[in-house]
Amino acid sequence: MEPSQERLEKRRREDSGPIDGSEAEHSAPITRSTTVWYKDGNIVIQAGRVQFRFYKGILARSSTPFSDLFELPQPAGEPEVEDCPVLVIHDQPEDIEVMLQSLVDDSYDTRFPVSYKTVYSTIRMAHKYDMPTLRSKAIARLTMEFPDTLEGWDARAKGGGYARIGDVETTDALFALISLAHRYEIRRILPAAYYKCCSKMPELLKAAEPTVDIEKCVPFSALESCFKGREILLESHVEANYSILEGLARPQGNVPDCMSRSDSCYTSWRNHGHEEGLWKSGREVKGLDMWEQWPLVLHLCETCRHYTEECLTHSRERTWENLPQYFDLGTWDDLKNRNY
Ligand SMILES: [Zn+2]
Repeated sequence: MEPSQERLEKRRREDSGPIDGSEAEHSAPITRSTTVWYKDGNIVIQAGRVQFRFYKGILARSSTPFSDLFELPQPAGEPEVEDCPVLVIHDQPEDIEVMLQSLVDDSYDTRFPVSYKTVYSTIRMAHKYDMPTLRSKAIARLTMEFPDTLEGWDARAKGGGYARIGDVETTDALFALISLAHRYEIRRILPAAYYKCCSKMPELLKAAEPTVDIEKCVPFSALESCFKGREILLESHVEANYSILEGLARPQGNVPDCMSRSDSCYTSWRNHGHEEGLWKSGREVKGLDMWEQWPLVLHLCETCRHYTEECLTHSRERTWENLPQYFDLGTWDDLKNRNY
């Protein structure tokens, strides 16, 4: 077997899915893709029972395994469709459709939202067929949704709900993308993804159960990390709020120029804190909320508000910095220095 063929065969074995399908699938009629059938294409790719007419040159430019394969002479007597050679590959038609479309369609750029399933397919195919550009595009989309900087996190929060992965707020998407990040070593998205998981613990427990659908099976280590990180986040949030309360207390507090006559800023923060459940470890993780999201600060005098805002800003910066450690993921530098 030639090296390129061998490589594709090897990759097929490593990334096997329902490749050849059942008997019934074998006897199903072959259909043409309604989305990827370019009349001037010069290669027909067949995945399962679906054929796609595409361009050799674009595939060869994007993928070394395809490039190597196309260098080989076409054996005599091989099947052809409309004068194009037919290359049978062992992937899901949906994955191939995504891969081919994203090679030629600008709407697959990061400016437009796609489904998490598309991102999953893109990463899987980019990995299997060694397509670094495709992989980078998909990772850019992932890091927009699960940023690795606090600035990125804030930009996403302020983005008015605009998402590059349209269904990213669903638990199916969240868990599938965590599974993807583990499988393909895209660990820099994990702290933000785990943080989002902290409010979905019952669903997360369920998703950690072994299932035939590997895309939806969250690794047990992720579950462990989320539980541990969530506890730390809840505790540190209470600590930060107590620290602010102490700072507001007079005369020993940190705000000597409080404009309220008595201890009203202190009392206000304490009483409203009771109402908001600030003094106990609750269920909702809020360590990365921006101070604008805190209605409590509206009850303080201007000086105390300024002090509180500064405290909250520092607190969330500290939370962000420590986020990977909370989840047993090392440091941000560790995650960002990974070569992928
Ligand atoms: Zn005050």
